[in-house]
Amino acid sequence: MPKTSRAAVVPEPNADLIIQEFEIPELIPGAVLLKVANSGVCGTDCHLWHGKLAGVPYPLILGHEVVGTIESIGPKPVKDLDGNVLKVGDRVGFHDVTQTCFSCYYCLIAKAPTKCPNRKVYGITMDATQFPKLIGGYSEYLYLSPGTHIIKIPDHVSFDGASAVGCAMPTAVHTVLRSPMRWGLNVAIQGSGPVGLMIAVLAMVSGASTVTMLDKAKNRLEIAKKFGVTDTLNIGETTLEERKNALTEISGGHGPDIVYEATGSPLAIPEGIELVREGGSYTICGQYTDHGNVEINPHLMNKKHLDIKTVWGSETLHVYRGIKTVADNYDRFPFEDLVTHRFSLDDAQKALEAQEKQVSLKAVIKPHGD
Ligand SMILES: [Zn+2]
Ligand SMILES: [Zn+2]
Repeated sequence: MPKTSRAAVVPEPNADLIIQEFEIPELIPGAVLLKVANSGVCGTDCHLWHGKLAGVPYPLILGHEVVGTIESIGPKPVKDLDGNVLKVGDRVGFHDVTQTCFSCYYCLIAKAPTKCPNRKVYGITMDATQFPKLIGGYSEYLYLSPGTHIIKIPDHVSFDGASAVGCAMPTAVHTVLRSPMRWGLNVAIQGSGPVGLMIAVLAMVSGASTVTMLDKAKNRLEIAKKFGVTDTLNIGETTLEERKNALTEISGGHGPDIVYEATGSPLAIPEGIELVREGGSYTICGQYTDHGNVEINPHLMNKKHLDIKTVWGSETLHVYRGIKTVADNYDRFPFEDLVTHRFSLDDAQKALEAQEKQVSLKAVIKPHGD
């Protein structure tokens, strides 16, 4: 077992990342040491870098979208979610939430475990000064604590293919499960980033009749086309009225049955309410960070008889079904193409900057190179 691991650390909000060497602690029963192949760079990482999420401890090792190879297993067999005993050398991913208490009000009564106040998330809520310190993916090795929900990555899925979907796929799975998605429906998606694209994938595998992607970035709409969406609308080149008309025509006269929001922009919300058909469904998942207020006409929501839902976080089942969806549809969708930028651990700072400027669709950090 290696003795040390280099990791990129955010010492405090807004400070440049520094590379630090950590001693790898001995594995306790149930723990696993993961050799990190890819750590996805997520929009949330940029927010964490700037200290925009409440209750996050620093210094922090970022990285919650991690895949890699099992380097070592503690003195007790560890099973994956299918109940198979894991071995050294297995290629795996895991749910980034390492702990949900299943004894609080939100876990037991409200049945909303993503709101559990005791959740611990790799690369987000754990402190790099506390045992086991190696708690984020921007590191050569990651210490997976006992109880982490580990999922094997099928042989035909590359690390880049698995990384491509990052935490976007579990978010998309959760979002689509919150909506009345069925075969034969007309779907519109606001935002062709990773989450929007994964919602499109799920709509297509669910048998949606039409899937229209809306975005202002041409390259993102091109990728959506490569993934097979039936239509795209550039919001930078059309008016709201034109988009409404186009969606009415695409859907055969009534507008989309379901609209999904995955943009991160508050301005998308009043537009989504306009776009969805009367009696339709609108599911919002892109407002993870607080970007302020926006004006909405509640009368329109009421008059249109809308079913509006929102989504927070993801559960293990969403990660599990996300990896299955990628594996089952690996030939149908160009998942690997989503990884557009690759960085070494030493360039973790550049990776964050690329993600922030949206130069990359998906950037990954490869602590051990390719
Ligand atoms: Zn993420
Ligand atoms: Zn709980």
